[in-house]
Amino acid sequence: MKKDKLIHHTNKSTPHNEALRISALFFIASFLWIIISDTIYFNFIGENTADFRLIYTYNGLVFVILTSTMIYVLVYRSMNKIIKLDRTLNIKNHILNETKNDLYKHQSLLYKVIDNSSLIIINFDLDCNITNANPYFYTLTNFTSRDVIGKNANAFFCDVCNYEFNNLREHIKSSGTISNIEVLMIDGNQEERILLLNISQLKNKTGEIEGFIAVGMDITETKQLEKTIKLLGTYDTLTGLPNRRYFEGKFENLLKTQGQNWKYALLYIDIDNFKYVNDTLGHHAGDSLLIHIAETLKGLLGNKHLISRISDDEFAIILCNVESKNEVDMIVRNIQENIKKPWEFENQKFYVSTTIGVALMPKDGNDYISLLKNANISMEYCKINNKANYCYFNEEIQRQFVDNISLLNDVKRAITNKEFTLNYQLIKEMTSEKFHSAESLIRWYHPEKGYIPPMNFIPAIEKTSLISEIRDFVINEALRQKSQWNKMGLDIPKIGINISAKSFRSEDLVSVIKNKLAEYNVGGNELILELTETGFVEDLEDVKRNIIELKRLGVEIAIDDFGTGYSSLARLKDLQIDYLKIDRTLIMNIDKDNNAKEVVISVIQMSKVLGLSVIAEGIETKEQYELLRDLGCENAQGYYIHRPAPAKELEKLA
Ligand code: C2E
Ligand code: CA
Ligand code: CA
Repeated sequence: MKKDKLIHHTNKSTPHNEALRISALFFIASFLWIIISDTIYFNFIGENTADFRLIYTYNGLVFVILTSTMIYVLVYRSMNKIIKLDRTLNIKNHILNETKNDLYKHQSLLYKVIDNSSLIIINFDLDCNITNANPYFYTLTNFTSRDVIGKNANAFFCDVCNYEFNNLREHIKSSGTISNIEVLMIDGNQEERILLLNISQLKNKTGEIEGFIAVGMDITETKQLEKTIKLLGTYDTLTGLPNRRYFEGKFENLLKTQGQNWKYALLYIDIDNFKYVNDTLGHHAGDSLLIHIAETLKGLLGNKHLISRISDDEFAIILCNVESKNEVDMIVRNIQENIKKPWEFENQKFYVSTTIGVALMPKDGNDYISLLKNANISMEYCKINNKANYCYFNEEIQRQFVDNISLLNDVKRAITNKEFTLNYQLIKEMTSEKFHSAESLIRWYHPEKGYIPPMNFIPAIEKTSLISEIRDFVINEALRQKSQWNKMGLDIPKIGINISAKSFRSEDLVSVIKNKLAEYNVGGNELILELTETGFVEDLEDVKRNIIELKRLGVEIAIDDFGTGYSSLARLKDLQIDYLKIDRTLIMNIDKDNNAKEVVISVIQMSKVLGLSVIAEGIETKEQYELLRDLGCENAQGYYIHRPAPAKELEKLA
């Protein structure tokens, strides 16, 4: 306020006015002084001539006028200077105020950013004592400023990147900043946090380093996620057991550290009929069973041996430091007996069994790959031969394995050389005695080995892609034959084709059949697809989907070898099946074994309830034929009616 008044005042009194005022005052005062001093002077010294007095007074007056003019000029110029200075000062003052305002605005913005940032900002002095931290730091760590201000950084941060906080100065001095260091800290809740920090120097006006500022973020969750992902790569999430990759790595490690003289046994464990559990009880039950088995194995073997889940329903175990085959025997039996104990699921008891293949080191292999392979083929051998629940790898298994490989090569060659043909076996309607259909059966006459029955190569190729080549050959050849019979007017209404379980689940089955029916102009209702009962055990959903689409084409479905597998008739109803083919082993004994007869009777009765037709397979005698006819069986197949034969032979009959 005072300053404003002053400026106001200065503005009113111009330099001219002020100079004039001061010089006029001086003039009046001096003039008065001349008059008074002259009067006193002349009165005292008595020199009183009028002329002298006048001259003396004029003299004084001229001096006063000159001095007043000088004063005027001096004051005028000084005032001008002062006013100019004052103006400059005012402008500068204004600029200063503006700058101050800007600075204030910037500062408060900066504080706002720091306060609301989700970045951690911490200031340290040269000794790495914390001098300041932003609110986010406190929120994140649950510390208060009292907990941290003035305390040394080493009290909170344990360095994970080999930087000692107290040594930071040296690092930062040379490089200016340290980027992306991961720092482990224990927060206010005594929990670990990982911070990712960039630390740089804080300098004072003279350019000296007076402290550090750390800016960064909390990466605890990201790190945990990384850890989980890593863990997922090594462990099976369902059972918590090491997965195949981890298992292999661990084995290689053991080999390196323990040397080759150390003795191992590798067990390859397969759960029998696991797919059946999964399909009939649901995936939830399957998962529960896998967990149960993993827990049983963990409970039995503890940490002494290494257990892994290596595929869906397969486990592998490295038995470490086993002294003798006897010891392995004991462990394997113990595993199998414990798994055989009833497993309860949703208040129901189930009995689960396993098949185990065993390979011993060094006898059966010196590395993980060969041991696992040999244990695996021993397990497969054990399953197929059904001799025992577990098998040690041996020469016979090795020979069969090699034979199998050479068989597959042989089949490949035979496909190229067109060595496969089809035979047909007639099926008769028992009441009308007319032909119902003909089942196509594959035949392989090997140029050197002679006739090879389908059972000697179909199961072996079922696990390979060769089965689809065989499937396509059979579909093409059977439908071509059927179309030829149709042209010839032969009275064989339908043709049957055996489809392996794997082929039945394949995605292209329906399209292949649709195309071939169209190509040979054969109706869908002239075709019966035979699927073995065990084929239903696996991947029921894919089977169902294919059946629905095939039914749309008019194709009929028969369950082959019925009575040997697991199917319940109720399940078949859902699947829209047309025929049940009662297995030859039941028919074979029907006239001798009452049990077999009872089973056949109930199958016939139940299929009537479900609206299915029955075909009895493998009828070899008149007695069997008549008994079945009397029991109400609709259709008959077997040597008694006709042996499988080339198409030409059938043409003579029909
Ligand atoms: P399957 O489908 O049960 O075929 C019937 C088998 O029983 C045939 O053996 C047939 O020759 C034989 N058989 C028929 N009547 C009698 C009889 O009265 N007594 C006796 N002892 N046997 C009889 P085959 O031809 O050796 O076929 C064996 C199995 O090979 C078939 O059993 C079928 O599962 C499979 N198979 C045959 N051809 C094919 C094919 O083209 N594709 C596929 N995927 N499998 C085929
Ligand atoms: Ca069949
Ligand atoms: Ca059969």
